[in-house]
Amino acid sequence: MKKLVLVVSLLTALGVIAGVVALRSETVALALIERALNAQGTAPALPEETLTVVVCGSASPLGTQPDRAQACIAVLTDQHFFVFDLGAGSAARLSQAQLPTPRLTAVFLTHLHSDHMADLPTVNLPRWAGGGASEPLMIFGPAGVDSVVSGFNEAYRIDRGFRVAHHGADFMPPAGGTLSSQVIEPGVVWSDESLSITAFTVDHDPIAPAYGYRVDYGGRSVVISGDTVNTPVLWEAAAGADLVFHDALALPVLKVMSEAALSAGQPRLAKIVTDVMDYHAELSGLQASADAAGVGRLVLYHLVPSPPNGLVKGFFDRAVTAPSLVAEDLMRFELPAGSKTVRVQEP
Ligand SMILES: [Zn+2]
Ligand SMILES: [Zn+2]
Repeated sequence: MKKLVLVVSLLTALGVIAGVVALRSETVALALIERALNAQGTAPALPEETLTVVVCGSASPLGTQPDRAQACIAVLTDQHFFVFDLGAGSAARLSQAQLPTPRLTAVFLTHLHSDHMADLPTVNLPRWAGGGASEPLMIFGPAGVDSVVSGFNEAYRIDRGFRVAHHGADFMPPAGGTLSSQVIEPGVVWSDESLSITAFTVDHDPIAPAYGYRVDYGGRSVVISGDTVNTPVLWEAAAGADLVFHDALALPVLKVMSEAALSAGQPRLAKIVTDVMDYHAELSGLQASADAAGVGRLVLYHLVPSPPNGLVKGFFDRAVTAPSLVAEDLMRFELPAGSKTVRVQEP
């Protein structure tokens, strides 16, 4: 019996050693990589006749954390793919969520702060190189969006030239590498036979104009606040919506941060923290406003500050009542048309 145990132990040890040696072999490594790539395949199909929403960024610039990209909400059906804001890091989130970036329909900007648009050129490369887009990516936004877009186009002009010369204009049509812009006013800004998008003015004073958006599809509706204080205008536009993504500011935490910055001899930081306190939505009262507007679920995103730990996140968690919740990057919501169902997938 002892002999048998010894033999089994010896064989197991030899197996482990052989495995370690194999993993160090480049031939074996390449075979494993190829198998993983083959298994990856194409992006999974979206459910039919369903409004799908993916959180591609839930952070604010203040206290940015590695697990949260800056503001970004993706709204899709099997026929549409819109992105509302594209802050730093959010293009990578779209890729991680395996969303079909090559067929991105358009981007809507809520306003022109950098944390809502820094990844615009980044998101266009997979659309152009991977999808072979031959038309510019359309960017809708408030007054000034044309200046932003022409600036990005100029900044990336040399890059586009390199890529077209390297791969050929047939493979990478030059126009596909560019962005185009359209200035919008409040009202219906997009519609077809099944989906409409309505813009409304929010209060991010002194930044103006700043818009929120409502998407309606198959009797389901999603509202994205962008940056705003808690304003009745938004709740009028959001009446009866299934989901409202709202920016949120933990005022008690900001006050402590401001005082701590002053104590530490950092008056510049203290000023910035103090300045942002009155142009985002303070947590208290948000859930009550959502309830009064008949909103199905309030989802807090663009968290100010982006919570570095559970102590800070607790302020956001305690401000909502289930099924309302605090967004995490890559959280996914599915709203089948003509129903009341909301399927939530944790990241
Ligand atoms: Zn802003
Ligand atoms: Zn912002």
